[in-house]
Amino acid sequence: MVCPSCSYLYRSDAWILVSSGLVGGKGTPEEVGTHPRLFITVTAPSFGAVHTIKARGGCVGPSTNAPKGVGGVCAHGRQRHCVERHEEGSPLLGRPLCQECFDYEGAVLWNAHASKLWNNTIQTIRRSLAEATGVNQRNLKSVAQVHYLKVAELQRRGLVHFHIVLRADGPGDLGEPVPIWLSVELLRRVVRQSIRKSSVVAPNREDFRWGQLLDVQDLGSESADNRAVASYLAKYVTKTTEGSAEFAHRFTSRRQIMNLVDDPHVRQLALTSWNLGPDPELESFHLREHAHTFGFTGLPITKSRSFSTTFAALRSNRATFMAARNESDPIEGSFRYEGRGYDHPRSSELAEVLFTMRRELRQEAAQARRTNSAPLSGDSL
Ligand SMILES: [Zn+2]
Ligand SMILES: [Zn+2]
Repeated sequence: MVCPSCSYLYRSDAWILVSSGLVGGKGTPEEVGTHPRLFITVTAPSFGAVHTIKARGGCVGPSTNAPKGVGGVCAHGRQRHCVERHEEGSPLLGRPLCQECFDYEGAVLWNAHASKLWNNTIQTIRRSLAEATGVNQRNLKSVAQVHYLKVAELQRRGLVHFHIVLRADGPGDLGEPVPIWLSVELLRRVVRQSIRKSSVVAPNREDFRWGQLLDVQDLGSESADNRAVASYLAKYVTKTTEGSAEFAHRFTSRRQIMNLVDDPHVRQLALTSWNLGPDPELESFHLREHAHTFGFTGLPITKSRSFSTTFAALRSNRATFMAARNESDPIEGSFRYEGRGYDHPRSSELAEVLFTMRRELRQEAAQARRTNSAPLSGDSL
């Protein structure tokens, strides 16, 4: 299990990272709050039908899963659709209708390639913006920049998806205005097109692309929305590792996977990653080391350098502060009333977010103790 106080610190640092990139702070100028900013969710394609909750009730419709002439039953004699209405928290959610039909190898390989697919996508976004202005791609920096922060989350079906905050900036210093032509509409159009056309070469199969479902929201100028996004992302950063004991740590043997993981779908994902590990073509992915994340090799949170401050900078500030406090001799002096509350509106926001996080962490820990909860805890499929 991840230590709760480390997790708490990590979450609060993540919140600072996201919110300072959205509205400024910790060395990022406040002007970024006026730049075009998008909140994007990109997901994996389907590797087999899984139980889900649709907005209009129902689970997997017959039309989406029964190819013409095949009927309503798969080669393994299982129904290709599910008419049930599942409750939130049902252990069926994210589990395949037929485990034998589910493409486990595809799912694990997709996870392994997801970060590369995003790298290709951000390159396409930058290239397309450069084309839109008529400048050479390498010269985009002379007119504009695009920065992002991305949070990875494992969905219940075991596939990774990304929540991304993307920001357009002017050339040079982040405080400089964004050129007029770079509107939020243009950025959104370019992002949607780039997500649709980006791909990554996969071994012995069709190139991987993003799934159908993609969400691109304008973050507008409402700072309240930006704070909500920051809290939402910070929460997800640590979520996967808090889900259960086994997923916080690497597996060291096949036997360990067999002994520790009860859920057959989750076990199969981990086993597939473990089994693909020695494949010479896939060596660079270190799939055995990433069997606990079903082949996903990236970090929970990554960003382009200039999006905002870094985890390292936040940690080092903290260390410096603590060291200075420890080194100093016992302080002699007297207290003086300076006022009550916080000296800056954003400090009180942060305090509020941290308070909520701490409460949620406690509740989650208690829940985990009570139920020895399901390994994956994503809110969406
Ligand atoms: Zn179902
Ligand atoms: Zn089947």
